[in-house]
Amino acid sequence: MNCPFCDYHDSKVIDSRDVNEGIRRRRQCLSCGSRFTTYERLQPTSLFVIKKDQRREEFSKDKLLTGIRKACEKRPLPTGTVDRLADDIEAELYHRGKAEIPSTLIGDMVMERLKSLDYIAYIRFASVYREFADITALKQEIDTLVTDEVGESSPTAQLSLIPAEELEVVAKRRQRSRG
Ligand SMILES: [Zn+2]
Repeated sequence: MNCPFCDYHDSKVIDSRDVNEGIRRRRQCLSCGSRFTTYERLQPTSLFVIKKDQRREEFSKDKLLTGIRKACEKRPLPTGTVDRLADDIEAELYHRGKAEIPSTLIGDMVMERLKSLDYIAYIRFASVYREFADITALKQEIDTLVTDEVGESSPTAQLSLIPAEELEVVAKRRQRSRG
């Protein structure tokens, strides 16, 4: 794939790792030197999403991208952030090695990542996904964010792109905490 930062067509592989049904590669752009992760599936396995009404639907990365893009519209995020987020979530979903994934889990994954990336995008996504019944519920969610932020990094600092390694750490920590 082209560099998500400068769109240059060539990159070198700096690390490869076998993950479920595929290979995760860390790459470095030969033009701008940025690092990014690609995930290659050896055998495309079908992944189904269990929706809230229990219907199954084949996982669509395009749908995932559309949802994230909408939330991130006009936000000052670095180029490639949305694609990277979707790539990362897709990789984690396949990495789980399950044939069916509840849609709520995917929503949670998006929310968790957006939360550490951009609050506005997070709130936008959450308001659609969690279908906040009223403004009170929405306000409570925002209050949680404000509380979380005390003593932590400023919102501006959050706009920097999260290195893939950190996302992996977060993902692993989550898996562990969920047992
Ligand atoms: Zn580049």
